[in-house]
Amino acid sequence: MKDTSILLIYTGGTIGMVKDEETGSLKPFNLDKIINYIPELSHLNYNLEKVSFDPLVDSSDMSPKQWIELAEIIEKNYDDYDGFVILHGTDTMSYTASALSFILENLNKPVILTGSQLPLGVVRTDGRDNFITALEIASAKENGVPIVPEVCLYFENRLYRGNRTYKYNAENFNAFRSVNYPLLAESGIYIRYKRKNIHKPDNKKLIVHKKLSSQIGIMKIFPGMQPSFVEAMLNAKGIKALVLETFGSGNTFTNKWFIELLEKAINNGLMIFNVTQCIGGSVEMGKYETSRKLKKIGLVGAVDMTTSAAVTKLMVIMGEESDSDTIKAKFTESWAGEITE
Ligand code: ASP
Repeated sequence: MKDTSILLIYTGGTIGMVKDEETGSLKPFNLDKIINYIPELSHLNYNLEKVSFDPLVDSSDMSPKQWIELAEIIEKNYDDYDGFVILHGTDTMSYTASALSFILENLNKPVILTGSQLPLGVVRTDGRDNFITALEIASAKENGVPIVPEVCLYFENRLYRGNRTYKYNAENFNAFRSVNYPLLAESGIYIRYKRKNIHKPDNKKLIVHKKLSSQIGIMKIFPGMQPSFVEAMLNAKGIKALVLETFGSGNTFTNKWFIELLEKAINNGLMIFNVTQCIGGSVEMGKYETSRKLKKIGLVGAVDMTTSAAVTKLMVIMGEESDSDTIKAKFTESWAGEITE
């Protein structure tokens, strides 16, 4: 009798494509036929159950609606399974991983997202290894306790904390990076877990945050930016929080018009969060003269959070809170290891 059960959730993406015999073009496969492409799945030493999104989505079409759907599937099946594997397109996988890490508070079981650059139905696919190893990781336990009880992203031999990743390459098999946080595991002949980097499980009850706000915007600054564009973004209707992607350690140009526009927007109630455009390192407002003023007018630093972590965290916080001091305070706390403390 197998004593471990894994739930596979298939959302869509490149991994689930096979060549249509008649037309020769790639189309999403039916989840029940997956075993035809990976016969090894019939020899697993754990139970594998499967559920599929209907319709399947290219991950470019992922939105808070699908994140809630995923969270509800996990919530409904939480007590019956030891771990969850989500097959997902690579384009927005880091957003989904980040969102789930905040939606699923007190998660004590593995939720492993994976996908591939080449479809399972293609001879050189990277999907087979990604898929099988993600299942192994989701089922791995020590003394009956899951080894990786967090939302992770597994790709090309590496296991990452999901909310630390970003997709950095559109064609390499090694498509993801996590610059500000080390790997959780590496796979070769063995899967080597880096225990000190992995969240330790506790006995708290799972809380699922299902109300997500969409009143959030992102603005990336660049040299030569025009006041009219900045003004339009800062005054976008219905937007209550703005993630401002700044240079280096949180710097912006210091033109009077720019600082004045930010200050006016803040005085009108907009919350502005400072995230670096760099792929590694941290925002340190006040380090340079160029960011000292930002701190003074009330921008909130995102430390070393990625843009996808910052945006999805705000969605979750603002779904439940409306007081700006509470939102800012919650934003700067680490919830799921997304900030280096
Ligand atoms: N456009 C696809 C997606 O993100 C690409 C992929 O799966 O790699 O769904």
